Amino acid sequence: MESEVISRNFIEQIIEKDIEEGYCTTVKTRFPPEPNGYLHIGHAKSILLNYGLAQKYNGQFNLRFDDTNPTKEDIEFVESIKKDVEWLGADWEDRLFFASSYFDRMYECAVLLIKKGKAYVCDLTPEEIREYRGTLTEPGKESPYRNRSVEENLELFENMKNGVYEDGSKVLRAKIDMASPNINMRDPIIYRVAHMRHHSTGDKWCIYPMYDFAHPIEDAIEGITHSICTLEFEDHRPLYDWVVRECEFASPPKQIEFAKLYLTNVITGKRYIKKLVQEGIVDGWDDPRMVSIAALRRRGFTPESIRMFVELVGVTKANGSVDYAMLEHCIREDLKLKARRMMAVLDPVKLVIDNYPKGQIEYLDVPNNQENEAMGTRKVPFGRVLYIEREDFMEEPPKKYYRLFPGNEVRLMSAYFVKCESFIKDENGKVTEIHCTYDPETKSGSGFTGRKVKGTIHWVEAGTAMQVEARLYENLVDEEKGVYNEDGSLNLNPNSLTVLTNCYVEPEFANAAENEKFQFVRNGYFCMDCKDSTKEHPVFNRIVSLKSSFKIS
Ligand code: ATP
Ligand code: MG
Repeated sequence: MESEVISRNFIEQIIEKDIEEGYCTTVKTRFPPEPNGYLHIGHAKSILLNYGLAQKYNGQFNLRFDDTNPTKEDIEFVESIKKDVEWLGADWEDRLFFASSYFDRMYECAVLLIKKGKAYVCDLTPEEIREYRGTLTEPGKESPYRNRSVEENLELFENMKNGVYEDGSKVLRAKIDMASPNINMRDPIIYRVAHMRHHSTGDKWCIYPMYDFAHPIEDAIEGITHSICTLEFEDHRPLYDWVVRECEFASPPKQIEFAKLYLTNVITGKRYIKKLVQEGIVDGWDDPRMVSIAALRRRGFTPESIRMFVELVGVTKANGSVDYAMLEHCIREDLKLKARRMMAVLDPVKLVIDNYPKGQIEYLDVPNNQENEAMGTRKVPFGRVLYIEREDFMEEPPKKYYRLFPGNEVRLMSAYFVKCESFIKDENGKVTEIHCTYDPETKSGSGFTGRKVKGTIHWVEAGTAMQVEARLYENLVDEEKGVYNEDGSLNLNPNSLTVLTNCYVEPEFANAAENEKFQFVRNGYFCMDCKDSTKEHPVFNRIVSLKSSFKIS
């Protein structure tokens, strides 16, 4: 969306002002996922935003795993996250970091705070801490342990580190203000005891830093200038600023919040995606009906389409949700001039051309993309017996039905006119064969102008066609009813997956490039499923249909 006026989003405005005023000379951003699940479309927004800013201002972009909480994390997710970030095109070069490698520095920061009288070891139970914290309308109450001496605190904290205490028996708290109107500032916990093995530091630590303490330190160590996060952290910003100031970092980073990306009636949260996987409602993290990056990739979305989508959505401070149709719009736009348009019949019925020579096959020149001549042409076999879509024939057509019916003539796409002469039904009344005659004069590209037909249908030659499976998708949740039922259960759409096992496609599909996306003419955009497709049993996913309900206002 290029325009004459260069408009900047609010983050770019802040950054430009910061550069102008000398707060920073270069921009350093990061994407800090917790390795506790697969990334989703919302993360894509954060990744592309952070990476885009670093690019735009000739800065640096870090990928940092925020692996400070060993209870929920798994190394499996580190690899999947790296793959997804790379696929989106966000290049972290050699700047891949792990928060866990800063544990020593974080510990030193905590010791510094204790020495400055800004942190203390507290023996209150978790319940008591909650009670003492107060509410939005009442101030908190000071812990009886708040005024321990620096020496005592240093000793107790060291004991915490050395495994002297049980989980939950002691915590280290920042000493800020129990009467602060901001609850986050009421002596927040910054370290807790947890006798747990960490996937990278092993058993070295039995105390782990809390997010609100660890995150600003991670940013500061890496020299991040703008720490961009989502809106729910806005109330934590005073604490963020407190930590980097009290830990005495020379050029402290600045936190900026933006609104999360939500899709209407689509499940995005990591937690909820995890639940769908664990309950077996979907076929793994990359089930093509989901919006994890892995799922979008498997479904056939391109990185370009996701980037276009993120651009279109923009960056705001206001929470809201975006229609899935916009994402579909982007993939259609991206593939429109890039994808080969090929013939595939999803619900086949036989069409026999009685006056076409038996056993003859001719190869027709078919444009790969009528809107992009540069894509050239390919040869498509044509013969006496074809498959067409069952819905392209009707025994008794309604008005304005221009496809095949007894006595009517249509164009076979890129081939000839055929006229329906008769048809055969089985004992159940199902049409099994349609018989036609063709007119050799009407070959596509021959310049024939003798008469016109109103309908054009696609086809594949039966003898050379490949039999394939096609999977059609709808939203995982029922769009009319919303994501959740009143009892909190998910409102699943029973038609979210349709498997068609008897589809036929032109033989050229055997030469498809890896990851190639296609338009199946009249049926939508498709790609081969990267998980289930084999040479013997090709499986195609429908990325999106051709019809669009989306309008850019
Ligand atoms: P979820 O809310 O889905 O569980 P999360 O916030 O727990 O995700 P993290 O790994 O902590 O996941 O997130 C990494 C980064 O991605 C954070 O900076 C977070 O703010 C950002 N992020 C997460 N969800 C979204 C979203 N829906 N839109 C934009 N950014 C997001
Ligand atoms: Mg999180």
